[in-house]
Amino acid sequence: MATDLAKFAKDKGVKYFMISFTDLFGGQRAKLVPAQAIADMQKDGAGFAGFATYLDMTPAHPDMLAVPDPDSVIQLPWKPEVAWVAANCVMNGEDVAQAPRNVLRRLIDEAAKEKMYVKTGIEAEYFLLTPDGSQISDEYDTAAKPCYDQQAVMRRYDVVREICDYMLEMGWGPYQNDHEDANGQFEMNWEFDDALKTADKHSFFKFMTKSVAEKHGFRATFMPKPVEGLTGNGCHAHISVWDAPGAKAKKNVFALTKAGSGPAGELGLSQQGAHFLGGIMKHASALAAITNPTVNSYKRINAPRTMSGATWAPNTVTWTGNNRTHMVRVPGPGRFELRLPDGAVNPYLLQAIIIAAGLSGVQSKADPGKRYDIDMYAEGHKVRGAPKLPLNLLDALRIYDRDKTLKEMMGEEFSAAYIKLKTQEWNDYMSHFSQWEKDNTLDI
Ligand SMILES: [Mg+2]
Repeated sequence: MATDLAKFAKDKGVKYFMISFTDLFGGQRAKLVPAQAIADMQKDGAGFAGFATYLDMTPAHPDMLAVPDPDSVIQLPWKPEVAWVAANCVMNGEDVAQAPRNVLRRLIDEAAKEKMYVKTGIEAEYFLLTPDGSQISDEYDTAAKPCYDQQAVMRRYDVVREICDYMLEMGWGPYQNDHEDANGQFEMNWEFDDALKTADKHSFFKFMTKSVAEKHGFRATFMPKPVEGLTGNGCHAHISVWDAPGAKAKKNVFALTKAGSGPAGELGLSQQGAHFLGGIMKHASALAAITNPTVNSYKRINAPRTMSGATWAPNTVTWTGNNRTHMVRVPGPGRFELRLPDGAVNPYLLQAIIIAAGLSGVQSKADPGKRYDIDMYAEGHKVRGAPKLPLNLLDALRIYDRDKTLKEMMGEEFSAAYIKLKTQEWNDYMSHFSQWEKDNTLDI
């Protein structure tokens, strides 16, 4: 039985609901609806002009309605009179095919037909900057190797603790927080969950982290490479597939009860897990268009060594066991970690592209290929035949556009809209005149 939002408001003292949806560029858009109007909105949705957001619509399109998914509702822990609720975009009585949450919901249904229920955990790294975004907020945070810096994490204890307390309150099962590998960078971990739940939590985490940072006079950013020369913001995803959704899940179908044979089996990954991984490996260069969606993303992957000694980001399509220098790491039986996505990734499209690539791998019995048990940062040049990841956003978009299987899995309407808007963004970037060009071309 779905949550009755009017009753929820009454029981919890909520005065306003933020009816929120996420557009193709990952922007979160919302309307603030007073509690007395929420019963109608729960039924019919809140009206938006789709053209005013990144959804590839024209000003002539009819009203787009954002219909709340009542089970996603969260009372804002830092402002309890407001509740946030994720919404599904509808137009003329039908789901808007290119809207990210709809793309994900459709793929979850596709996977369910194969009795596959994807669960993921994500690691959404972020920086705390000064309010204008120009500098790291902590002037003493200057160590060359600042990862797990005990002194630096305590200087931002008030922010980290507040966010973690809220996650405890919401029942997310947070379990560790740290100062990450770049100056000014942090990571907070909470329990893995069903793909749609993780996507909603990921969206809310970004909103919450930015809000709490602002409250303390800082600016939180998930930008892939906000500071030149420092490690960027990754958004690693840990992936497993189960026999049922939610609490009904009993068996991790990626896990082998006893070590198997072959490159994946030896690490405790089942045949189905190996095929799912095979799909990710096969489509990696194309799916980067989604997992690494901005011009700036390509300054995180393919980056030169950072000040800390490692970028912690991949540049080649390879996989291995418990070793962080590859695109995919199998840290233990029954799951694998995709280290490609960055902080700019759209929370819904991240989950959608994992399911799309993985499901196509299972359907085609894809082989993940050779396992390289080497230090990729030191010995990567010895690897022959593994594709390099795209060097920039345009490369990635072109590879995605050529990947018919992935485009079809993600939906033709979605893929066309995404490629169109992202190519426009690339063209806009290319028309930007930079100082580098002048420095390197003036005297030619
Ligand atoms: Mg990390």
